[in-house]
Amino acid sequence: MKFQSGLEFAKHLDATDELSEFRTQFHIPTDQSGKPLIYFCGNSLGLQPKVTKSFVETELDKWAQLGVEGHTQGHFPWLHYHEFLTEAMAEIVGAKNHEVVVMNSLTVNLHLMMASFFQPTKSRFKILIESDVFPSDKYAVESQLRHHHLDPQESLILWSPRAGEILPNYDDLEQIMKDQGNEIALVMIGGVNYYTGQYFDLKRITRLGHQYGCMVGFDCAHGAGNVALNLHDSEADFAIWCTYKYLNSGPGSLSGCFVHERHADKPELNRLSGWWNHNKETRFNMRQPFDQLFGAEGWQLSNPPILSMAAIRASLNLFKTAGMPALIDKSKKLTEYFEFMLAALRDDRIEVITPKNINERGCQLSIRIKNADRSIHDKLTKAGVISDWREPDVIRVAPVPLYNRFEDIFQMVQLFKIILND
Ligand SMILES: *Cc1c(COP(=O)(O)O)cnc(C)c1O
Repeated sequence: MKFQSGLEFAKHLDATDELSEFRTQFHIPTDQSGKPLIYFCGNSLGLQPKVTKSFVETELDKWAQLGVEGHTQGHFPWLHYHEFLTEAMAEIVGAKNHEVVVMNSLTVNLHLMMASFFQPTKSRFKILIESDVFPSDKYAVESQLRHHHLDPQESLILWSPRAGEILPNYDDLEQIMKDQGNEIALVMIGGVNYYTGQYFDLKRITRLGHQYGCMVGFDCAHGAGNVALNLHDSEADFAIWCTYKYLNSGPGSLSGCFVHERHADKPELNRLSGWWNHNKETRFNMRQPFDQLFGAEGWQLSNPPILSMAAIRASLNLFKTAGMPALIDKSKKLTEYFEFMLAALRDDRIEVITPKNINERGCQLSIRIKNADRSIHDKLTKAGVISDWREPDVIRVAPVPLYNRFEDIFQMVQLFKIILND
């Protein structure tokens, strides 16, 4: 699409945007005078849908009125509450219903998945990750290696960018697999990298991993609700994601988990268990021998926090109404417009390190600023732009199609220009 750099054009894009009404369904944070902030941190904490409060209140009221009977009574009985999220969540990540469950938080799920899908042997014991993986994931895989009495120095392989480059290269991944694929037990990649916004080719990585007999999993924290993950078709063994970033379900809310259907019914697969992955029919008979649930539900441990799940249900309803394909269309347009506006600054101190190919990214742009420090970001914040700073020199902005406007981008870039030339 051909863009123009004036305000009128931004307003025109908003006026002709079929999803523009969705913004009115969110609480937009404001400054002290009540003026809406320009919010580009939906990749960190998504905004609150206005309906969320009533969804949570409904469950609080149910608890007040019914006490323990809320588990089986009322409109959405708690015993089955996670099931009311499954279909919409599966749709968002491109999976079958029995491949998806919402449970726990993200890093916890990563460990649960590794309990099953990282089973080191004498000859196959390594884990491969991308070098600039999100810290929690790195700590998690290192601790799994130590848990199996392995030394991360030897057993953790990094897929790194070439010297002087920022994005890792698929040829190098193929070379690593050629050299060490037979020793790698698990390939664990962030589906969309948190720092660069690079959306990896899940299918290609999975194919490559499987070719060498490795398990392949993805952390899709920055992918779910942002890009078309098509998890089922990717053939990945597992994936995990959180719901508080693009999925707008509130701070610390629960995580989603995908297990490919080829693993749906494998009692022999090692896993950690609790009463919640035991057969639903006999769960409350107690004193039963363990009877594994089918599908992704078969990795649950505990009865889940209903109040957080109510917030997820509220948000998923909005996604269902808008539809991922329409959201992704708008997301691409917003992000291309953002890129265009930044390029129009003609300031060679700034460089977008996110891939230029729109199929290799979601809505996030990571802007590297030469010789800058955090003060640029702090000035932006003071001017009413909520973005985030990642050391050493990157500002991340994520224009989210559910609630960001083209005009937000226009305004941000004007402020950015003033601050850069300050
Ligand atoms: C946000 C994020 C996390 C955070 O983990 P929590 O367990 O939810 O605290 C972990 N990994 C990635 C890739 C993330 O983007």
